Amino acid sequence: MTHPIPQCSPLAAYQAQAADIDTAIRETLAAGRYVLGPRVAEFEARFAQWIGATHGLGLANGTDALEIALRALGIGAGDFVATTSMSAVATAVAIRKTGASPLFADIEPQHGLIDPVGIESLLASHGGRIRAIVPVHLYGRCADMDAIMTIANRYGVPVVEDCAQAHGASWNGRTAGTFGAFGSFSFYPTKNLGAIGDGGAVVTSDPDLRERARLLREYGWKTRYISDIEGGNSRLDELQAGVLSVKLARLHDDNMARRRIAQVYREGLAHPGVEVFRGDDTGHVYHQFVVLSDQRDALHAHLASLEIGALVHYPAAIHQQPAYACADYAPMPLPNTERWTTRVLSLPMYPQMPIADAKCVVDAINAWSAPAR
Ligand SMILES: *Cc1c(COP(=O)(O)O)cnc(C)c1O
Repeated sequence: MTHPIPQCSPLAAYQAQAADIDTAIRETLAAGRYVLGPRVAEFEARFAQWIGATHGLGLANGTDALEIALRALGIGAGDFVATTSMSAVATAVAIRKTGASPLFADIEPQHGLIDPVGIESLLASHGGRIRAIVPVHLYGRCADMDAIMTIANRYGVPVVEDCAQAHGASWNGRTAGTFGAFGSFSFYPTKNLGAIGDGGAVVTSDPDLRERARLLREYGWKTRYISDIEGGNSRLDELQAGVLSVKLARLHDDNMARRRIAQVYREGLAHPGVEVFRGDDTGHVYHQFVVLSDQRDALHAHLASLEIGALVHYPAAIHQQPAYACADYAPMPLPNTERWTTRVLSLPMYPQMPIADAKCVVDAINAWSAPAR
């Protein structure tokens, strides 16, 4: 192999649409309005329609999106929110910023997604204090939304879907972000839909929730300069919105390209020490393609020695990180979560990745001589 293979490439995403993105940026500069203007409104409408929700609301980042969704639902100090410890720390950051506390359910061991059985145990043991459920569609695969919505409806608890890694993912034909009261999204540059800086959004089909989130986005203003409620500042800017509209037009094709790379991995990987999920992947948009190995660190080093990028999502679960190691957050043991952090590895995955590179990765892994144990 002659060239390094990156784990992902926001630059390749820009280069694939450079002319259109440059035009959008120039037009925005010339328009003279730079924050919450017509481009944001246009992107909100397009994105909501693309997802299949009625309303979209552009925000400063994905962490804010989750926080604002929870606040709009009335979640605050003293409340509990059932979620997963196997996520970006941002999931817990957003919950804590409302004043509420996360309660972590364990994951199922096949995909690393929140286990509905664990959610139900938390609801059974913590009664009315759990005020929301936040499933995370990790790596681009939907959590089991049938089971989760059934449990949520039985207990009368709203769901906010953390879709930061799952733009366009679906479960039984329905798009991620349309099951719960809100879907929250991040447009950080490495996500399936990435800006050229920070960005985020929520989608909802409830006009009242959309309005409450809108007030929270900008100082609680119903009309300018008059704060009806206490809000903050989480505005999306016009440059990001203009670029996001350009990229949204390609998101479906990009997700299909990710699926083609995943197909190469699924068909080609054949190493006894590397577990690959080859079951049903309908609706999976492959934000990451993860494999599992008992000798993950050695595999990671092997790939690094061949200049193949790989990342660990995540080396520590949220409840294992010093800031979130509060015993109250993990009232039940999380053995699947803790085992997952030691075994998971994310292979190179981005829409512009050449298929030949994916085949190089397959060959490199299949040729790996795992150290004797
Ligand atoms: C990226 C991410 C977020 C946070 O989004 P930011 O835009 O970085 O604030 C939240 N949840 C998950 C699962 C993520 O991957």
